[in-house]
Amino acid sequence: MAKVVIIGAGGVGTVVAHKCAQHPEVFTEVVIASRTRSKCEAIVEAIGKPNFSADVVDADSVPQLVELFHRHKPELVINVALPYQDLTIMDACLLCGVNYLDTANYEPKDEAHFEYSWQWAYKQRFEDAGLTAILGCGFDPGVSGVFTAYAAKHYFSEMQTLDIVDCNGGDHGKAFATNFNPEINIREITQNGRFYKDGEWITTGPLEIHQTLTYPNIGERESYMMYHEELESLVKNFPSIRQARFWMTFGQEYLTHLRVIQNIGMARIDEIDYNGQKIVPLQFLKAVLPNPQDLGENYHGETSIGCRIAGLDKEGKPLTYYIWNNCSHEAAYKETGMQAVSYTTGVPAMVGAMMFLTGKWVRPGVNNVEEFDPDPFLAELAKDGLPWNESFNIDLEVK
Ligand code: NDP
Repeated sequence: MAKVVIIGAGGVGTVVAHKCAQHPEVFTEVVIASRTRSKCEAIVEAIGKPNFSADVVDADSVPQLVELFHRHKPELVINVALPYQDLTIMDACLLCGVNYLDTANYEPKDEAHFEYSWQWAYKQRFEDAGLTAILGCGFDPGVSGVFTAYAAKHYFSEMQTLDIVDCNGGDHGKAFATNFNPEINIREITQNGRFYKDGEWITTGPLEIHQTLTYPNIGERESYMMYHEELESLVKNFPSIRQARFWMTFGQEYLTHLRVIQNIGMARIDEIDYNGQKIVPLQFLKAVLPNPQDLGENYHGETSIGCRIAGLDKEGKPLTYYIWNNCSHEAAYKETGMQAVSYTTGVPAMVGAMMFLTGKWVRPGVNNVEEFDPDPFLAELAKDGLPWNESFNIDLEVK
């Protein structure tokens, strides 16, 4: 049916490629490109299909991207490189007439700050070009937005509070490691917290607010409130939401390491001079931490990510609702060679691409996932390794 280019050959890119390979009727040709050709070649070799090939691109460079797109003429680019490359890839898409999908919103390299304004500013240009851009199509952001849209469509007349809860109940056996790109992960966690209440954004200290929440099949875990990008689009697209928050679990050991890393200056993102060479401490730290892609082999346990929503049902009666997915690290590794954090990001990216290529999610402009019909996406997600569950009128616990 269509040719796609995947940019990024990390943990998430590997999963996207494996999942595309399971649907040759949709993804008739797939090119995997990143800065390091050998990484792309290794994925192509592991998949072992003649319609997969490897290429090389520095996605910080619009001319290189334009050349790549001219060479391959893809229908869609699946951007699973780093958030720094979102805008250059969107620019190249506009120059070459290519549709766009990503899993993380743009962040400038020199400022640990993310918001949608930079990418939403492309809306008119994508609309005028008749091109669809789908933003934030991983798990969170991604499925978290689709879950919310599904709740609005089928159960609520008015959603009032939304709590996105993200638990990694797995154990990789390392003293400290991040589950996806360490630089992006540590920048995200060490920021101030932020949540939405009655039309305003309220800022907290980093991981300042926490409470114990119970996760299906995992049990109780301390859950920390932090800012997450989908909150921004969800309160815009569902204006009845009065309070929106995001919670993520962390173990004490992890938090202690994180505190030390910050205290000794290793989380800094500004350049320092080291023996006459400029280095960014956080990028240096990434080079010595375990590679997230290598965690899969000994990873046990599950992730559990979902939305806890309260409001009024279609008849105007109070309703509480919880929708979630649990994903096993072992099962993800067995299928794709990657752990569940990469798996739960890569599968929705492939499903979003499939929604676009099969005509179900086509809307020229720049769109967040919750703006599309959630039903075909969630039906496909369940078939593709991420089944989901629902509970009604339960104690949502979130205080
Ligand atoms: P990795 O660090 O494992 O991989 C990143 C890949 O991007 C590497 O292959 C790297 O290539 C490539 N890359 C980096 N810079 C460039 C560049 N300038 N040009 C071309 N390629 C480049 O990251 P992950 O796979 O863990 O994460 C990928 C994305 O997924 C990130 O944006 C992350 O924020 C997002 N994510 C989203 C989640 C969600 O639920 N929405 C959850 C987890 C991650 P090379 O090594 O060759 O330089």
